[in-house]
Amino acid sequence: MNKKAVALLSGGLDSTLAVRLILDQGIEVTAMNFVSPFCTCNRHGRCESAHVAEQFDIKLKIISVGMDYINLIKNPRYGYGKNINPCLDCRIFMFTKARLYMEEIGAAFVFTGEVLGQRPMSQRMDAMRLIERESGLTGKLLRPLSAKLLESTSVEGSIVDREKLMDIKGRSRKPQMSMAKDYGIDDYACAAGGCLLTDFQFANRMRDLFVHYDEPTLKDIAFLKVGRHFRISDNTKVIVGRDEAENKRLLNMQKAEDTCLQIVDAPGPVTLLQGERHPENLAKAACLAARYSDAKLSPSVKVAYRANGADEPVILDVVPMRDEHLQQLRI
Ligand code: SF4
Repeated sequence: MNKKAVALLSGGLDSTLAVRLILDQGIEVTAMNFVSPFCTCNRHGRCESAHVAEQFDIKLKIISVGMDYINLIKNPRYGYGKNINPCLDCRIFMFTKARLYMEEIGAAFVFTGEVLGQRPMSQRMDAMRLIERESGLTGKLLRPLSAKLLESTSVEGSIVDREKLMDIKGRSRKPQMSMAKDYGIDDYACAAGGCLLTDFQFANRMRDLFVHYDEPTLKDIAFLKVGRHFRISDNTKVIVGRDEAENKRLLNMQKAEDTCLQIVDAPGPVTLLQGERHPENLAKAACLAARYSDAKLSPSVKVAYRANGADEPVILDVVPMRDEHLQQLRI
């Protein structure tokens, strides 16, 4: 009998418990994890799923999403959740890839840590059925934590003992915490997984990106995670570092066409202007840089930038931007 399964493993508590339940039934598990620029679930720069796979000594296939995933976020067939999270489309995307992998390695089914009713968009009964159908996994998608509340899959009764699965539903995590305690699992840093697409501020930045960039790249998205962002014109934005670490990141990430501005006579942030480098935009970027510098109360602050290919920096003398003005520009 084929006793192989593919797990979708975020590394959060729910998918960890699901893996444990299936392993306990003597089924060989290969885990899959999707890495996207929107994942926040990592420890010391390493994805949580890697820790879990290591703990259980199971194989882990990591897939980095590409532009097809970004296009899906831009134009989701089933719309967005509360922010810019296209959860139904996202799941269909991932589950379809899991089905293909299941077929490739000759596994019998795919399983996840989903819990009925836990998330309003993607874990309602009708949504779960839709995802199953659209990803070509009808009858082959098992949710061990809620299985007893769901229609039986084709593998329950043959490969999987349904009686040993769970009947958890809803948003409370108490049942999962109690299972974790029983299993001696106490090292889970990210109880529910993390996704920036559900974050209000990040969603605003993504919307701004989709409005102003015809073809945003993964690097453009990486910038959205660093600094304070300001839209100063249709074609131009300014990013201001919030601390030493972000200043370093911005310096490392800057593109050849970006303009870097720095305060001359006082400590201040690294500021990048992305877009049209004309005098009005440069002045606005300099005023923003001055506002976030240690000289923000001075009537005039010197800000330097280097024009294309020039050896000597250009120095601008500016007044720090007033808070009312910068709030209007903030993304
Ligand atoms: S929260 Fe993020 S990763 Fe999770 S399904 Fe929704 S869009 Fe996908």
